[in-house]
Amino acid sequence: MIKAGLEDVRNTIGMIPDQHLYYFDRYIDNIIPPFIRKWYEHDVAQRSEKGLETQSVLRWLLESSELGDAMLINYLKSSVDRIEKDQDDPDLNKATEKEQEEWLTGVRKGVEEGWLHPDSLSAEQRIGSLTVVYADYFDLSAKDRGGYSIFGKEYVVLGRKVDEIEHIAKHEFNHALIGSFDETWINEAITEHIAQVIDGRRDVEYLGSFSDYWSDSTYRGPRDVLEALVNLGPDLKVADFTRAYSRGDARTFDKLTITRKVASALGMKDYDPLQLLNVHIEKLYNHEVKNNKSHMVALRLACARACIDVYEQPWAVFGNQAWETREKTEVIFSQVAS
Ligand SMILES: [Zn+2]
Repeated sequence: MIKAGLEDVRNTIGMIPDQHLYYFDRYIDNIIPPFIRKWYEHDVAQRSEKGLETQSVLRWLLESSELGDAMLINYLKSSVDRIEKDQDDPDLNKATEKEQEEWLTGVRKGVEEGWLHPDSLSAEQRIGSLTVVYADYFDLSAKDRGGYSIFGKEYVVLGRKVDEIEHIAKHEFNHALIGSFDETWINEAITEHIAQVIDGRRDVEYLGSFSDYWSDSTYRGPRDVLEALVNLGPDLKVADFTRAYSRGDARTFDKLTITRKVASALGMKDYDPLQLLNVHIEKLYNHEVKNNKSHMVALRLACARACIDVYEQPWAVFGNQAWETREKTEVIFSQVAS
């Protein structure tokens, strides 16, 4: 039984991309018990004497610890203890409660101002039964996420430091309680944008970047693509996207309206430009994943490329045929430059 469980853990560690294993190392002081850390540091010193590269602590637990299974079991036990303790941590719970209050206030304001669909108000009841779990960093590293949740599931997983909770809680509440789009890039772009608007960090119609990197870095790539889309025509409003995202039952109808607006901005009556853009991003993303990039890095690179393509070679995004048979042939990007 234990053997099978350890096999599972080893397989999971084995699947984490190399460069992402080091993400976990940032938390070594918090989450690796001192006696395991001592062993690790001892091995690191020995490897460096032999001129070998330093291994990430997870890779070390997996491969080179002389104590093998015993070390891994010890790590897992201490990790479970730590996770259980975290769930009752008063500072973390206080931070979460504050985020929930601010978030609900923001949702009500969004509905009042019209950039969130009134369906979002069901969150007022549902947030009471939402379970917040403070994460296991091993789990987050394996998933390549700072936190996560699934739309319609009554739990969210957040980081276990106060500043991480402040940074991601509203984003995860949006995922769990407000809405979703099928395609990862646009789903994350809108989820993060709504979180930042609720946080008072930006206005709903402003997608451009600002200088505070920590506040602005989350899903910057997907948000840049959204900005490029909105810049296609004066009729396109960010609020169209946030309202469609937050509409409970008829999301596809609102999405269709947006698609029509994008198509008409581009003069592509017979094509679905959003679908074509999604295919383009997916292709770029898969290419990066094949090149061993982690999920987050692949998404960032794919979106950066797609964004440039929308501006500089839209025919590569929407296809030559769709591009050349447009009804409008005037330069559509004029408003971007102004
Ligand atoms: Zn997300």
